[in-house]
Amino acid sequence: MTRTHTLGFPRIGAHRELKFALEKHWRGEIDAASLEAVGADLRARHWQAQRDAGLDFVTVGDFAFYDHVANHIQLLGCEPARFDFAAEPELARYFTMARGVADEAGQEGCAHGDHGHSHGTYALEMTKWFDTNYHYLVPEFTASTRFGLNSVRLFNEVAQAQKLGHKVKAVLLGPLSFLWLGKEKQAGFDRFSLLDALLPVYEQVLARLKALGVEWVQVDEPILGLDLPDAWRNAFERSYWQLARSAPKLLLATYFSPLADNLRLACQLPVAGLHVDAVRAPDELTGVADWLPAHKVLSVGIVDGRNIWRADPDAALQRLQPVADKHKGELWIAPSCSLLHVPFSLGAETKLDTEIKSWLAFAVEKLDELRVLRAALDGDGASVETELAAARKAAAARRGSPRVHRADVALRLARTLASDDRRVSGFAQRQVEQRARFALPPLPTTTIGSFPQTAAIRAARAAFRRGELDAGGYREKMQAEIALAVRKQEELGIDVLVHGEAERNDMVEYFGEQLDGFVFTANGWVQSYGSRCVKPPVIFGDVARPKPMTVEWTAYAQSLTRLPMKGMLTGPITILQWSFVRDDQPRSVTTEQIAWAIRDEVVDLEKAGIGIIQIDEPAIREGLPLRRAGWKNYLEGATRSFRISASGVADRTQIHTHMCYSEFNDILPEIAAMDADVITIETSRSDMELLRGFGDFKYPNEIGPGVYDIHSPRVPTTEEMVRLMRKAAAVVPPVNLWVNPDCGLKTRGWPETEAALANMVEAARVLRGEL
Ligand code: GLN
Ligand code: ZN
Repeated sequence: MTRTHTLGFPRIGAHRELKFALEKHWRGEIDAASLEAVGADLRARHWQAQRDAGLDFVTVGDFAFYDHVANHIQLLGCEPARFDFAAEPELARYFTMARGVADEAGQEGCAHGDHGHSHGTYALEMTKWFDTNYHYLVPEFTASTRFGLNSVRLFNEVAQAQKLGHKVKAVLLGPLSFLWLGKEKQAGFDRFSLLDALLPVYEQVLARLKALGVEWVQVDEPILGLDLPDAWRNAFERSYWQLARSAPKLLLATYFSPLADNLRLACQLPVAGLHVDAVRAPDELTGVADWLPAHKVLSVGIVDGRNIWRADPDAALQRLQPVADKHKGELWIAPSCSLLHVPFSLGAETKLDTEIKSWLAFAVEKLDELRVLRAALDGDGASVETELAAARKAAAARRGSPRVHRADVALRLARTLASDDRRVSGFAQRQVEQRARFALPPLPTTTIGSFPQTAAIRAARAAFRRGELDAGGYREKMQAEIALAVRKQEELGIDVLVHGEAERNDMVEYFGEQLDGFVFTANGWVQSYGSRCVKPPVIFGDVARPKPMTVEWTAYAQSLTRLPMKGMLTGPITILQWSFVRDDQPRSVTTEQIAWAIRDEVVDLEKAGIGIIQIDEPAIREGLPLRRAGWKNYLEGATRSFRISASGVADRTQIHTHMCYSEFNDILPEIAAMDADVITIETSRSDMELLRGFGDFKYPNEIGPGVYDIHSPRVPTTEEMVRLMRKAAAVVPPVNLWVNPDCGLKTRGWPETEAALANMVEAARVLRGEL
């Protein structure tokens, strides 16, 4: 008999109840007890959904008021000493770690990732959970970090589930992954040295779960899918021997990435079961079935926990059957990873195209897929005949649909020439032509695209969407905003202007809505961090651009000024990375389709007289595979797609790209291979250190290193920016430098934006005098 379970379930709620309750609590409108009640209610409903789908266990420990890694910081008693907590209640301490405490100067309380701010108690740093768009709070470690079983929250949740009559499987983030995901806050200190102090606390947690009558504990060690240093790999065996002593049965869970060189290790650890991701690493299933001893449970992650497609039951069964035959022990089936990464349920999608809807499965529907697959696998297909038939029909329809597969798009890709991803001439030649054309001063000033999205702008966009404002009225309002932005930039003395992006609510959604092959859900929210959710577009079919998307706004902006107006687009990799992507063709093919659609827009902008065009690619690094073995392939495809989007124009047209804060040093050759004439990057918070790599690498094209941090309302002084640019000029030839902020200004207000840009223009003037 096959068993079914899930590694985790979306905690945010069917209607984002958790988000709204959290925000009320933070505004002081509901107290901690009411928030706890909302949490308890959500857990109860989510367990019931698991029970209704016939899962053999409900999963307890995946719920969190902000982030499950932060829960572990409290469970394991390692709240950083810098918070200096005294008698505050646990939940208050939790939110302080997650959000920081605002200081007198009005620094934003939730200034996430604001390294370097000096007053107030700043929040824990946040970073991406593996290659997902979920962000976790980073544990901080020093030589004085101590651990101790410090919270009963998990045990209370177990008791709650038991009281509701559920059979519980508890889930913990494993000790090695927990340490790995944290960060040293002390020079020369290695967090690995904390392992021996940490393990006894895990033993206590496990013993307590056992005492509560929990039979199975799922211990997540997703780092087994990474390229690990030997010391970390070697520590698994002894760690798990130690944990096994006092523990209930342990199910070691791995996901997101092939086990590769860790496969045998994972199979041989002293645990009672192993979960593997058969969606991300289908080729490893046979190896796992071979290596895993028969007395262990094999849990196969067969339903895609990272994407929203309905499973093709025949494909799934074809993958499962040989494993079922080979593995002599117990077989479990599950989603590939926690369902945290998919929206709650299709139930709320009343407006979605019904055919496309029939191709999708969100978290609730995925639980049901497990029920159907199990029945089929156990030879009881007859009991789920209707469900199987419907799923088969949907899979066949999707495979053959002309809405998905378009001959014109396929033909265009097939006809791609080797030269289509190359500009007419090399950078040196283009630079000469562009200099002659634009006659910009040395150290030209520009901004990254967006200007403040005022309440009035948002209200106008919302009214237009609701149909309360007609197209003409909307155009007038947006044009007025564009005119305002142009006038302000001219007054400030900026050299290359932007239209300000007033008409865009989101840099991906704006394009997705105008491209063929995309649909949008009404309620497809996925937690990004804390109370923040995103609603990614769904790319269901071949992508093409039916008509220009930005030309009218940009041409209007250019008509208002004699200065160069920079067109503003989102690049193919970023559009792909921030969407749910089709799984019936390689991601690289979908990226290339988007690249051609963006290229059409670039060419049309050029035709409309726009001489400078920026193609934003902030997500390029996010797409890197978790294992280095996959990097080369990904980067080749990604840079090629960028170049396809950028190479339809003449040498005299200047292509910019922009990337936000990220580690560039190990991908500099590929960034150079994108061959943008100008790249703007976020550097101010690294005090220009980030630019050093570009200098050492002798990055050939022009660069605009950000000179002011747009995440805070603070207005940087001219002197600060002069100092940063002097640092920049010491590592990169000044003739190749631009002066600009770190990123777009949409989250800022106009007063601080104008003051900061005035200082920035002044800084450029000072520096020009020094050249
Ligand atoms: N052009 C975009 C803006 O200015 C870029 C945003 C980003 O890099 N994330 O808002
Ligand atoms: Zn940015």
